[in-house]
Amino acid sequence: MWNRIQTAVELIYPPRCLGCGDLVTSDFGLCGPCWRDTPFIGGTICESCGTPLPGDTDGHRIECDDCMTTPRPWKDGRAALLYTGRARRMILALKHGDRPELARPSALWMAQAGEDLLRQGMLIAPVPLHWSRLVKRRYNQSALLAQHLGRETGLAVCPDLLIRTQRTPVLDGKTTTERAETLSQAIAPHPKRRHRMAARDVLLVDDVMTSGATLAACARACLDAGANHIFVLTLARVAKDA
Ligand SMILES: [Zn+2]
Ligand SMILES: [Zn+2]
Repeated sequence: MWNRIQTAVELIYPPRCLGCGDLVTSDFGLCGPCWRDTPFIGGTICESCGTPLPGDTDGHRIECDDCMTTPRPWKDGRAALLYTGRARRMILALKHGDRPELARPSALWMAQAGEDLLRQGMLIAPVPLHWSRLVKRRYNQSALLAQHLGRETGLAVCPDLLIRTQRTPVLDGKTTTERAETLSQAIAPHPKRRHRMAARDVLLVDDVMTSGATLAACARACLDAGANHIFVLTLARVAKDA
């Protein structure tokens, strides 16, 4: 039944390239030129944050300078795209709610990038958005990505595992330590959901990882609530030189 509806929908709305709007043959949609133009991360990467690194792997764990200087409270991290060029434009459109149809293919790219992180019984949770911003923006793009990722991987999703306890104060001009402290006070497990992550692996999902401070605060909140290992998967990673 669903397949028939899908087919009917495709006849009326044939799949279009997410980049340029041209007709494409697949549902996950980028045409050849747009695919080549989209900065997918591949090759050697930092195991902690997923940023691309020069050189080849020798089978040992590799981390970038940032992750070595500031060890992450999570185990491994991956990102599908570099936050630049076309990827940046797509993510901004997703964030502002202009193009929610980007969420499904984005989750598919994330599932591919995060393949090594996925394990049975894992719980997927988005980085929370403060309710006052949620009202303004109508929806949380990270929760949307988490939901699609759950559908794609078959893993359980808990959209409100973590909550913002207060409006995130301005972090500009603060040191790394001050930022971490401010953020860890702002993010907490939902009192009615914390039992769900006890002794369980948690996959934190966000649209973009910049410094990783918010993801670190989320990871710490999960660890404090008794979660097992934390992993992070983002749609895009801001690379240092980008
Ligand atoms: Zn295109
Ligand atoms: Zn790293």
